[in-house]
Parts: sequence; structure tokens; C-alpha cells
Amino acid sequence: QSYLDRIATHNPVYNAYLTVDNKISLAQAAAADQLLATGAAQALTGIPIAQKDIFCAKGWRTTCGSKMLADFIAPYDAHVIEQFNRAGAVNLGKTNMDEFAMGSSNETSYFGPVRNPWNPKAVPGGSSGGAASAVAARLCAAATGTDTGGSIRQPAALCGITGIKPTYGTVSRYGMIAFASSLDQAGPMARSAEDCALMLNVMTGFDERDSTSLQRDKEDYTRDLNKPLAGLRIGLPKEFFAEGLSADVGARVQEAIAEYRKLGATIVGISLPNTRLAVPVYYVLAPAEASSNLSRFDGVRYGYRAPEYTDLTDMYEKSRSQGFGEEVKRRIMIGTYVLSHGYYDAYYLQAQKIRRLIAQDFTDAFQQCDVIMGPTSPSTAFNLGEKGDDPVQMYLSDIYTIAVNLAGLPGMSIPCGFGTNNMPVGLQIIGNYFDEARMLNVAHQYQ
Ligand code: GLN
Repeated sequence: QSYLDRIATHNPVYNAYLTVDNKISLAQAAAADQLLATGAAQALTGIPIAQKDIFCAKGWRTTCGSKMLADFIAPYDAHVIEQFNRAGAVNLGKTNMDEFAMGSSNETSYFGPVRNPWNPKAVPGGSSGGAASAVAARLCAAATGTDTGGSIRQPAALCGITGIKPTYGTVSRYGMIAFASSLDQAGPMARSAEDCALMLNVMTGFDERDSTSLQRDKEDYTRDLNKPLAGLRIGLPKEFFAEGLSADVGARVQEAIAEYRKLGATIVGISLPNTRLAVPVYYVLAPAEASSNLSRFDGVRYGYRAPEYTDLTDMYEKSRSQGFGEEVKRRIMIGTYVLSHGYYDAYYLQAQKIRRLIAQDFTDAFQQCDVIMGPTSPSTAFNLGEKGDDPVQMYLSDIYTIAVNLAGLPGMSIPCGFGTNNMPVGLQIIGNYFDEARMLNVAHQYQ
């Protein structure tokens, strides 16, 4: 009730939630009380969390930030939602996001931008901007997000919270509306690494309904939180501290690294030579996959249908032109172009080859270090509208996060102080495949 009250008071300013349903939330809370009374409670029983509006939740409006799904009531639960229900967590509502998770500022949402609780003139980052804002403004105890190119880590950094994108395949994508299927991965956003570990314990696990879900034993991600860091080797890629990084963000990250030295870590200089190709490669591959995934929104099966049309083709065209926003249309056009006959070899195939080289860079780097560190984002939160009419400027806000998705590696962001404008700075920690427990340990020791 206390969180619902805070949402009622503050959400009109932050616009972090798109849908709340006090009746459902309070009924779940009452059920959690029962579990507590009978001694059947688990770690997250009764904990009020927020769900990104990309996850289908039975009976809940599930919009993915789009006019296309503005009235869509999901008929089934995503794997992630099922897992939280099973754990007895309370769903406080669905959080705002960039349309179909395409964006870095939450400004592409059909339902209006989200505001950063540290300064309401600033963006919260994106695409999981509603989740980050809700956690930072204490409108939930923790939240879920998804990360295709940085959408958990970048908003976590800009809002001063902790977020982790697990190894690709760790969390089932069943019921999570697809953007770029070979990159999409769900993860938690919370106030600390410890809370993220508890959330991850619930979210992970094999699910046969997602063909990329990995068959691995369930892990306890809290198991290493208190391990000392003596002997830890931290790799610093020189490409992450080059041109484009704002001075204050660079300074805070260096101070955090000095702190790690005091905790017993050793610092190793490394190189990820193909880093500069990550953004261009991503903006070929992600739109290609999106153009295919979004073909299902045709006005026939579900979602928005234009009110007036002449024939079937006209109905498709009008429904999609009216239902999708500008950024989504831009991606569909780029994706269709790079996949078309005559351009496929020049763009799509080339990008796939470079993706392999980018992954190989990390494999080589992890021969020399246990984790990689650097900034999460090149700057602190920018103001609403500041990068609005320049898509390339917006795309560059993910220069340090995107390569991690292309390689399928786990990455996280933790707060490490404030920039000259008093806005939060994020430290990125990148781990080797399946090394989430160690990353959470590294984050927890600093926090
Ligand atoms: N900002 C990137 C994009 O617009 C990444 C988004 C994401 O991770 N979902 O595609």
C-alpha cells in the first residue's frame, strides 16, 4: 500500500508506470501474507516489484511502449512473470519504455517520456527508463528490464541504480516481446548488487518454450557476495577511455578503479580492437532482426488496426503507418534494406562476420583478466529533447554497452558517484560467460 501511495503521488511527474492495478497488487500482497503466516515464504515473497511493459502478464495491459499495443491485454504470462508469481512477489505495475525497446532515453514511448528522479529535466536513459526511474524514485523495491544493446545498464547508470544483463540464454524470453532475438536478454534493476542477485535467482532457469534458453543447473547468485577481492584481475580496455568519454565520467570511473586496487585487485591494460565497429554492426543486425520480428503486427492478429481502409494491403499499410512511431519505422526500413537481395552480402553478412570478431576480442581479453571495467555510458543523463532530432548522437550513447550484447556476455552497471552536473555516473563491469556470481561479488564489495 505504501508503494501504491508513492506511485499515486509521484508517478504523474515521473511517468515511470504505464499501468497500475491496485486491486491485483493488493490481492497478491494478501496472498503473500498468507505464505508468510504459514512459513512458506521465499526470499522475494511479498516484495513489491515493477515489470517492464515488454513482458506479457495475464490480464494486464501490455503495450511495449507502442500505440500498436496500446489496448492489448496479454492472454498469458511471460516466463519471467510466472517465476515472480511463483516466488510470491507482488507486481506493482508495468513500467514505461522506449517503443519496442528502441531507444536510449525513453523518449520514443508512445505514452510520453519518463523523467529522471535526480533532475526531472533529464532523461532516465532507455529503453528500460521507466524501470530505472521507478527504482531510483523508490516507487518499487526492484524492477525487471531488458537489454538488447544496453537498455538495462545505461538507464541504471543514468539513474544511479544497479542493473545486470545476464549471459545470453540465461533468462527465458518466452512472453517477452521480441526486438532483436539474438541480442535480447532480461535482467534485474535494483538498489544494490545484493538485491539484483536475489532477483536473478528468481528470473533464471531453463525453459523449453524459448529455444535459446540454456540447460544449466540453477545457481544461487548470492553465494559469492562476501568473497574478498584479493587477487582479482581487472582489465581496462584502452578503447573505453578514449575520445568521446566525458571528463567527469572518466574521473569517477578511475576513482572507482583506485578503490578496487585498495580492495586487493590488480589492474591490467587490455585492448578490444573492434570496439569502434560495435555500434555500426549493431545498427545493421538489430534492425534486421526487428524488421522480421515486427512483421507480426499487421492489424489482423492483434494490436492496432486502422479504422478506415480500402483493401487488405491498404489495411496493412495504414495499420502499420499509424500504429508504429518514427524510430520503429526507421529500424524496419533499415532492417528490410540490409536483408534485401543485393545488399545482404554487403551489410548483413559483413556485420555477422564482424560480430564474431568482436566476440573474439573479449575471449582474448579474458585470458588476461577476470572482469573488464569501464564507463557504462559516455556521459551522465542529458536533458529531454537534447538528442531528439539526431538518431546517430542517440545511438552513440551505447558505445560501451553494445559489444557485450553482440558477444552474448554478461554486463552490469553500478553507481560510482556524480558528474559535474550532480547526475549519477555508472561503472560498467563485464564478466566472462556465466560469471554473474563473480560480477555481483565484485559489485557488492564496492557497494
Ligand atoms: N539503445 C539501443 C537501441 O536503441 C539499445 C536498446 C535496448 O537495449 N533495448 O536499440
